Amino acid sequence: MKLEKYSIGMGDRFGLQGKAQLNALINAKNAGVNVVPVWNKSHREHTIIGSSPEDVRNEADTAVKNLDWNDSYYVDADHISLKNVDLFIDSSDFFTLDVADFTGQCADSNDINAFVAKNINYTGALSIPGVNEKFEINEQVIRTIAEKYLLAVKEAGKIYRHIENKKGTGKFITEVSMDETDHPQTPIELFFISSAIADEKIPAQTIAPKFTGRFNKGVDYVGPVNQFVKEFEEDICIIKFAIEKFGLPENLKLSLHSGSDKFSIYQPINMIIKKHGCGLHLKTAGTTWLEELIGLAMAENQGMEICREIYKNALLRFDELCAPYSTVIDINKNNLPSADEVAAWSGDQYANGLRHDQSHKDFNPDFRQLLHVGYKIAAEMGEKYTNALKNTEDVISEQVTKNIFERHIKPLFSEINE
Ligand SMILES: [Zn+2]
Repeated sequence: MKLEKYSIGMGDRFGLQGKAQLNALINAKNAGVNVVPVWNKSHREHTIIGSSPEDVRNEADTAVKNLDWNDSYYVDADHISLKNVDLFIDSSDFFTLDVADFTGQCADSNDINAFVAKNINYTGALSIPGVNEKFEINEQVIRTIAEKYLLAVKEAGKIYRHIENKKGTGKFITEVSMDETDHPQTPIELFFISSAIADEKIPAQTIAPKFTGRFNKGVDYVGPVNQFVKEFEEDICIIKFAIEKFGLPENLKLSLHSGSDKFSIYQPINMIIKKHGCGLHLKTAGTTWLEELIGLAMAENQGMEICREIYKNALLRFDELCAPYSTVIDINKNNLPSADEVAAWSGDQYANGLRHDQSHKDFNPDFRQLLHVGYKIAAEMGEKYTNALKNTEDVISEQVTKNIFERHIKPLFSEINE
């Protein structure tokens, strides 16, 4: 099983937007941009929503069948570990092995020594094709990287072999993720991490490092764009080099997590991947749930009532909702409207505050981030929420499709007209 060059992960919290999401890829295809869909959902999301991995499989299969999608599609067991991978074995064919918790922990000293010895030929001034500067590598550099990351990669090896035993070799796509940590991985760290991945014989097709800058949920990239661009391009060159040196899968590519809505880096990324002829996986999730809210708000009446109620409760339960996402949100509380203000808003005002159109005067990124983490409240509403989605399907699906196609796929993957 070989993942295509361009792929997009589309999480769908409540499982009702599969068709609308797939329509975005059909629009892309009609516009000459080939991107394959991956429906991703993590154990954390399943737990909060009360859904199961089988639900995601059913949603994907149904959307594909109803829309006659003849290209590949995948179901991603997102951010799994040995503790919960078994729940996903039957329904998933894409596994994101999350070993971020193991980074920074030291492997056995024999393993570290063996790793250093194996990579000792890279000491000196290491030049990577495509990167101008040379990297000064000595034994201590390799050792320090091994101490930070070797145990994590070994854990990825364990999870990979566990899945391989159950599903069979070559029957699924493997991603290795280390993005949910505090410290970004440098390009040279990525090089030696790739070496360790090859040693573990993990046929990784995507890798999700943590990049410089903040990838806050549902809002734009925060950080120096120039530095991100430099690092991203170096990572691409490193991966090319690592494929050749370590015999990793030739389609190995970067995966960008919390990737939705990072508008300021999409065009630069697009230019870099075109320049190097390489692929990319973009992982999104919550952006679709926010389009559901926008659609409900636009529908006014009952839909808007639900939107007001969700916001009111999100404000009341601010700390509880934000806690699990503390490293990936930045909310300025002073910029949040009160529940009373929002109670007086029209549906359009709510939608304009929430919709990620930075040029709109009413757009409020703090309001958007709070609602992004507020899906737990909608989940607790149960059928009241999902029935409202069904009653408002036309408006919502139009928003969902447009968001994925116009705001994500187009700037990131389409040909750039200079
Ligand atoms: Zn992630």
